[in-house]
Amino acid sequence: MFLEAWISIVMKINQDQPNIIFESSFIEEAVFLAAKYNIGKLNDSIIQDFHQEREGIYKHTTIQERDFAFERLYREYFQKLRVREIFDNIIADYALLHRPDVTLFVKKVWSKGQEDTELFVDGRSRTVCIALMANRILQPFCIQAILRHDLLRVSDMLDKNFQYTPHIILMGKSELENNLIKDRFRILWDMYIDIRLRKKGHSTIKLIDDYKKAFQKAFFFLKDDEREYVYSKLEGCETLTQIDLINWAQDARSIKTLGEGGLRCPLCDFTCFKPVSNWSKETFAIAEAVKNEHPQWTIEQGICPQCFDLYSSKTKVKV
Ligand SMILES: [Zn+2]
Repeated sequence: MFLEAWISIVMKINQDQPNIIFESSFIEEAVFLAAKYNIGKLNDSIIQDFHQEREGIYKHTTIQERDFAFERLYREYFQKLRVREIFDNIIADYALLHRPDVTLFVKKVWSKGQEDTELFVDGRSRTVCIALMANRILQPFCIQAILRHDLLRVSDMLDKNFQYTPHIILMGKSELENNLIKDRFRILWDMYIDIRLRKKGHSTIKLIDDYKKAFQKAFFFLKDDEREYVYSKLEGCETLTQIDLINWAQDARSIKTLGEGGLRCPLCDFTCFKPVSNWSKETFAIAEAVKNEHPQWTIEQGICPQCFDLYSSKTKVKV
């Protein structure tokens, strides 16, 4: 595999330096952009040197030699035009990415939607694959905010205090419910990441108010003071764990039954937001029909409208 081949040829010159590999096509585009817009605010002569050396390669190399010569030139000017420095400055703040078992691989993508950062674990080696548009080097705010957010997420995954595992068991009763828990977990984690970045004086892509709106929407089932409690924990703690965030992401009420103050019908096990609450003389026969089939059930345990209708049709009681 291409990525593994790259990693296998990396020589670690200095263990204190993060180990970063840039894909050739990322370097090539970034160098052209850095030269065109002089992102390093360098003396023009360096940029002129680059163009002259490039012309020289066309003139003085054979077709067979050319690819290698260009590759070497672009890698050299990736440093000289101060593109590499952008990454080094950001990564310098992430001690866990400086470990000898961690390699960062930066590859070029063509659109915003393809940008992503993923952690791959293979035995003892950890590879952080950063998919990024090369023109981000022209956007100092975005490249900082994107990379700082993604690298703090990866750092959490590498941090033994965060206790990250990709194999966490979720308490949802269906795949749909587990997906909702994952979405809520992701909102909490993103908030926790950006809160810590802002505390350190870094800007973030998402505004606090946007997070608060998404948080309120995703956690509609919590009372105001419960939401405030979770938010204050995210804001006040530096050492939360993955399980803390997962616990908050689980809708506790969807695990409990109606009678326990939750949302789950004790008979059919489906989530129910409007349980039947008014029992009258007329509907008492329905409760008796339920008890015939579920002797443990009592009115206090609650029932959903669907189950209520089912037993009402069995008893022929019109409701
Ligand atoms: Zn039911």
